[in-house]
Amino acid sequence: MLQMLVLPLIVSSLITGMASLDGRASGKMGMRAVVYYMVTTIIAVFIGILMVIIIHPGKGSKDKLHREGRIEQVQTTDAFMDLVRNMFPPNLVEACFKQNVTHALGTLSEVLTFEEVIPIPGSANGVNALGLVVFSMCFGLVIGSMKQKGRALREFFNCLNEAIMRLVAIIIWYAPVGIMFLIAGKILEMDDLAVMGGQLGMYTLTVIVGLLIHALCILPLLYFIVTHRNPWVFIAGLLQALITALGTSSSSATLPITFRCLEENNGVDRRITRFVLPVGATINMDGTALYEALAAIFIAQVNNYELDFGQIITISITATAASIGAAGIPQAGLVTMVIVLTSVGLPTEDITLIIAVDWFLDRLRTTTNVLGDSLGAGIVEHLSRRELDAQDCELGNSVTEEK
Ligand code: ASP
Repeated sequence: MLQMLVLPLIVSSLITGMASLDGRASGKMGMRAVVYYMVTTIIAVFIGILMVIIIHPGKGSKDKLHREGRIEQVQTTDAFMDLVRNMFPPNLVEACFKQNVTHALGTLSEVLTFEEVIPIPGSANGVNALGLVVFSMCFGLVIGSMKQKGRALREFFNCLNEAIMRLVAIIIWYAPVGIMFLIAGKILEMDDLAVMGGQLGMYTLTVIVGLLIHALCILPLLYFIVTHRNPWVFIAGLLQALITALGTSSSSATLPITFRCLEENNGVDRRITRFVLPVGATINMDGTALYEALAAIFIAQVNNYELDFGQIITISITATAASIGAAGIPQAGLVTMVIVLTSVGLPTEDITLIIAVDWFLDRLRTTTNVLGDSLGAGIVEHLSRRELDAQDCELGNSVTEEK
């Protein structure tokens, strides 16, 4: 049900968000959001690399890990170009249900048999969120600048956004039951706990420690340093969104709840949430970036492959790009990991070594992703207070003049 609302929510909130800000203000806020995304993603990648080097979960021979399926080799440039191609879809209607994936990425999704591992039916039919985000932002900016002529369109999208948020309010009552069944169903299906032992167990532990450090130390600290407010009060307001992320493994599906939590519980300005959240859910994935860098080095370790400093830097850069390119759907990060592996010549078929534990790690990295987006909205709002107040003043003045 949440998934159903994602598409109209992303489009209507971004269009109204951009249309309600003047060009200069949205430019500044956009810059702040992008700087926040880049800084936190780079820190996340760094933590992932540090953890996997310190704990070294890949010690021992590769034969101890069992493998399922095969994946073909893919060109890194091809995978990178997918990112750009997705930003500018030639057909908007098609972008609503299809994104560009290189041939090998497509093959990997077949190996993963998404239908079996993903709890939300249909979630693998990736919406090209990146393309829709770019289009909606441009469209919003244009109708915002059209003054009187654009009024009807602005009102239409405002109404649409309002209606979707009302639907979210209804679904939210049912969400705890849905989330409980999503998690319980997965636990009942788990029959091979033995895979958690040995190297894979150490790998799982390393990812968990890395994600916890990033989510519970770095992000709250950053929030505190910038806003001087208590991050735990802010995080308490997000609890429902975080649990939904854990249950659905999808930051897109969680988006409607994230909106509600930020606006209703934490009082974040709607001009910020509408603008920052859909973009964040699409491109800002700290958990995914941390995980991709860590997993790639783990795969190098089990292959007894020594990575030099240059290759580690390459992994950091490609892990950042791969996290931007990953859609907010279950196990998307596993698919875009092909980019990271090919960039340093690691065997892409070794992704299959870590598939067994990915359903679980995916939930944790999705929760970290949602937390990162939400704290980011809080930080951008704090930094943009002056522009928001100035806009409120202008609005007040024009209303008085009209009267
Ligand atoms: N499932 C994650 C998300 O929706 C993406 C990933 O697979 O890392 O945020």
